[in-house]
Amino acid sequence: MTGPSLRGDHHVHSAFSDDAVSTPAENLAAARAAGLDTLRMVDHVRVSTSYVPDFLAVVRGLPRVDGLRVLTGVEAKVLDASGAVDAPPDVLAALGRPDGADRVLLADHQFPGPDGPWSPRVVLEHLGAGTLTRAGAVETLVTATARAVRRAGRAQLAHPFSLLPKIGLTEDDVSDELLDALAEVLVATGTPVEVNEKWRCPGARVRDRWVAAGVALVASTDAHVADDVGRYAWLRAEQA
Ligand SMILES: [Zn+2]
Ligand SMILES: [Zn+2]
Repeated sequence: MTGPSLRGDHHVHSAFSDDAVSTPAENLAAARAAGLDTLRMVDHVRVSTSYVPDFLAVVRGLPRVDGLRVLTGVEAKVLDASGAVDAPPDVLAALGRPDGADRVLLADHQFPGPDGPWSPRVVLEHLGAGTLTRAGAVETLVTATARAVRRAGRAQLAHPFSLLPKIGLTEDDVSDELLDALAEVLVATGTPVEVNEKWRCPGARVRDRWVAAGVALVASTDAHVADDVGRYAWLRAEQA
């Protein structure tokens, strides 16, 4: 595998996310201790989130560390099949601007249904009732992701296909054609894709196919505590 550099951690949460505990300063110190050269600080948002300016101000107020590039982001789910993103419109509009976050990390926390997010339980009910096929579910997920990437402009795929096991599917259910269609959008938009230590995805087949297509892979821990920043066990083994 042509793996991503393990000296980067492109997805680290702080206590601005209600399920994480460390401060941005603690995450920065952990990244320095781990010898990282790149750290992307990111927290969870929804359409209603209001803390992003405070979060960005705190990150930009951190002391500079020689040799360590600090990037920012917000993590949001893809809401529906049209590729709408669950983030405040002003935050999305400011991506890449001096006063904005660098990128939005697009996440498959729910299934992007035709009418809004579906929980895995709802997807399983539809699959069981025959009102959704496995192939249809995969196509909707991939198509919605590609649309969200285009709409966002400056995205990063957070942990692609982490949803599949929750709805009884695997990456083997995603055809080469769908992988290639998504790769085309990722390359055209310069969108990096995480290989995510916490969710252990995407797997080797997807990674290899996307690397061959020119997709940029980046390593991430999805750390919710500073001790986990830059620590790769699964990913290191995958690259051995
Ligand atoms: Zn996530
Ligand atoms: Zn996350």
